[in-house]
Amino acid sequence: MISRIDMRGSLPPDLRDVLPRAELDVEAALEKVRPICEDVRHRGAAAVRELTARFDGVEISTTRVPAEAIVTALDELDPKVRAALEESIRRARLVHRDQRRADVTTQVVPGGTVTERWVPVDRVGLYVPGGRAVYPSSVVMNVVPAQEAGVPSLAVTSPAQREFGGLPHPSILAACALLGVEEVYSVGGAQAVAMFAYGTEECPPATMVTGPGNIWVAAAKRLLKGRIGIDSEAGPTEIAILADATADPVHVAADLISQAEHDVIAAAVLVTDSEELAEGVEKELPAQVAATRHSERIAEALAGRQSAIVLVDDLEAGLKVVDAYAAEHLEIQTADAAAVAARVRNAGAVFVGPYAPVSLGDYLAGSNHVLPTGGCACHSGGLSVQTFLRGVHVVDYSREALAEAAAHVTVLADAEDLPAHGAAVRARFDWQVPS
Ligand code: NAD
Repeated sequence: MISRIDMRGSLPPDLRDVLPRAELDVEAALEKVRPICEDVRHRGAAAVRELTARFDGVEISTTRVPAEAIVTALDELDPKVRAALEESIRRARLVHRDQRRADVTTQVVPGGTVTERWVPVDRVGLYVPGGRAVYPSSVVMNVVPAQEAGVPSLAVTSPAQREFGGLPHPSILAACALLGVEEVYSVGGAQAVAMFAYGTEECPPATMVTGPGNIWVAAAKRLLKGRIGIDSEAGPTEIAILADATADPVHVAADLISQAEHDVIAAAVLVTDSEELAEGVEKELPAQVAATRHSERIAEALAGRQSAIVLVDDLEAGLKVVDAYAAEHLEIQTADAAAVAARVRNAGAVFVGPYAPVSLGDYLAGSNHVLPTGGCACHSGGLSVQTFLRGVHVVDYSREALAEAAAHVTVLADAEDLPAHGAAVRARFDWQVPS
């Protein structure tokens, strides 16, 4: 059901390349996505509606979701789901509120200061996937940090669903209502990213687009990056578990399965120094997979080349492996898990010990679940308040403070053969460089 990679003895030098990874050729998808984006750029909402008919199989008369549909979705939401979403929002707000940054002013010299002002982007388009599964939790994870960052204008988009008359799934609309989001679009895929990037008659352009999605969404984000800001490309989900002989194979198997449930190309990787645990998990997986609803999808994900049990000599080697893999989600199920977790450098989020499964982070830990995939956790973090803020340096120097710096500016400008730079300073002092 899941393959083994034996790295006992010595770790391969090219660790990052020998570890399993889902094949996701975003570059190849760019060619398909380019005409979609161009179409939206030139023909606006009409193109978006036609593309929705083509890719989502539903005719929509407008891309904007009517306000009444959002209110109705909340009225009709199962009270238990409502209570769970409200608690998820409450916890996410606690964590994301603490991420807010204060402006910092540094006195560089007497009369000369630099202030770093944290300014939210003007308008964001938040993508909530809705192809294979619907994710009201992703509404929470996108909207809460943007709101806590103080973004003045935000809109959510999610694919039109045929069975709901071309609206996004009602649970997505209800989550928007709970968060006070009134601007929602029933658009998915690359056309949704293009709609926000270029704007249409029905949707003003956004400065930034965030949120996870499939290969078409990722390709459109890559293509339009620059015109819009993006978070990471957030591809198919991944779990890595670093575990030793103290881990419970029932828990480990359940957690591997829970992430494999997302997608046939989701990755589930166990890294362990315990042959006994590996065997226990291998025995446990078929029974648990057979007993769960999406067993076919999960079995395909676990059997895929992106999933594996990796055997290592010890936890030191295990840490090297998980750091090289840089998983979206990393669980530490070892003795003294907190100490081991503290040594991890590369992961989107780290889950410590037996009582912090990734599913808790997906919904209710308070942490964000939009996290870097595909190894990007070695250079990027997940969605946070910081994603939506720009640091703007405000430079304020008095005449005296500039005079003190003028000679150095002139020297450096001349060294770079940019004499007009020095002249711009000297012009303020009757063309004399103050000594
Ligand atoms: P999606 O909303 O990303 O994509 C659906 C859209 O794709 C449709 O609306 C359609 O317009 C477009 N599309 C479908 N087929 C197409 C084609 N042949 N050509 C062009 N466009 C096409 O939903 P999804 O497909 O379910 O994918 C969601 C992804 O997001 C999954 O891989 C899931 O694992 C991932 N995800 C990641 C996170 C995270 O935090 N990293 C969270 C939730 C979901």
